[in-house]
Amino acid sequence: MDVRGGTAGETADGTAGKAPDVRDAPGPVLRVSQVLGPITALGPGRRLGVWVQGCPLACAGCMSRHTWDPRGGRDVGVERLVGLWHRGLADGYDGLTVSGGEPLEQPEALAALLDAADRVRRGAGRADADLLVYTGWEEAEIAASPRATAALDRADAVITGRYRAGEPTPLVWRGSANQRLIPRTPLGRRRYSPHLRRTADRPELQVRVTDGAVHIVGVPRPGELSALERDLAGRGVTFRENTWRPEKTS
Ligand code: SF4
Repeated sequence: MDVRGGTAGETADGTAGKAPDVRDAPGPVLRVSQVLGPITALGPGRRLGVWVQGCPLACAGCMSRHTWDPRGGRDVGVERLVGLWHRGLADGYDGLTVSGGEPLEQPEALAALLDAADRVRRGAGRADADLLVYTGWEEAEIAASPRATAALDRADAVITGRYRAGEPTPLVWRGSANQRLIPRTPLGRRRYSPHLRRTADRPELQVRVTDGAVHIVGVPRPGELSALERDLAGRGVTFRENTWRPEKTS
């Protein structure tokens, strides 16, 4: 069996593959790599996951290299994404996770998404559902940028900092020890304070196989993706290409 390996998933409406190119809705548009729901490995509970497209930070060892090129992915209207969020809330989702790629490369669209997601959760009587954003920016970089600060205004929590492959951590939801989980609102403090120092022997990963592609959601530790490849190879499954190495495997 010959498959592609990736680090995101299928669309939240159950359609396998990349996020749909939806430019018909008026209003702000986000360049998106993938949308998946429910995810359970990037934040507490069952969540909608939105991976934005485009990241210039080029961390060595990044597992999501396919999200670096800002010309990749698809344009998706914020209205469409918020529609998926609304459906997720109706299905009992506990939160929204925005990852990437680098969300702060699209500060106005990110602000629009979080603002609309906030309004929708309140309108749906689900003000308990939290908004979490992953960014490679450091806290000082965010503080120095009014656009980035404004973009995160509605975020209940952020996970900040470049990924450093040489600094693995057992802390949940973080890829390296320098990364910080920062609650920003009363809801964020309630929900994330128990997890600030929580560790796990092994990180939680979601693995989905759809249309010849293996999708991995979560924050694997160094070497785990290679170990997964070796394990699958032993079962007769080889990767034609993957997103955590720059070169194709064949
Ligand atoms: S910030 Fe994230 S997506 Fe960007 S290079 Fe670093 S690990 Fe990869």
